[in-house]
Amino acid sequence: MNLSRLIYCSRAVADLDYEDLKDIMTKSQKNNQPVGVTGILCFGNTIFLQILEGPRQEISKTYNRIIQDTRHFDTEIIDFQEIEERLFTDWSMRVVQLGDFSRDSVNHIILKYSSQPEFNPFKMTSKQCLNFMMEFGQLTK
Ligand code: FAD
Repeated sequence: MNLSRLIYCSRAVADLDYEDLKDIMTKSQKNNQPVGVTGILCFGNTIFLQILEGPRQEISKTYNRIIQDTRHFDTEIIDFQEIEERLFTDWSMRVVQLGDFSRDSVNHIILKYSSQPEFNPFKMTSKQCLNFMMEFGQLTK
């Protein structure tokens, strides 16, 4: 089955809390691992940015489930493509909050890949999103 990568972003509902994030992480890890889906989910500035890698069919099924989730809205696909290799292999789904890390180091990466100082993947290119996630992933290891 074709190995693929999906990048999308969305806006969290106003009352999203820590328990919701924990639930999303638990469900993602439970569901993704058996079907070979890996990736990273970043949350900051009330916005989600997620990268899913795995078999194309499983990525589609997972994404179709995710977009029905009422904990977020304005879901926007940033990129979907076949890939030769995964970049995010360590976790079935790693969930990271920008607020958990040093403001200086996070701001540096945001500014490096954005035209503005706030985290806003709706205004970033797919390449910028990918590079941001790779660099942010390294920071949080
Ligand atoms: P069940 O608990 O059986 O869920 C059944 C249904 O209820 C689903 O339609 C679910 O969307 C909905 N639901 C459950 N809890 C809530 C709640 N607290 N509020 C609103 N609706 C709810 N899931 C993955 O499997 N992999 C991922 O990578 C992944 N990433 C996500 C990223 C984001 C930004 C968000 C918001 C959700 C993500 N989820 C992910 C969760 C996904 O949307 C579903 O909630 C989950 O896959 C349902 O798993 P389940 O059928 O085993 O759980």
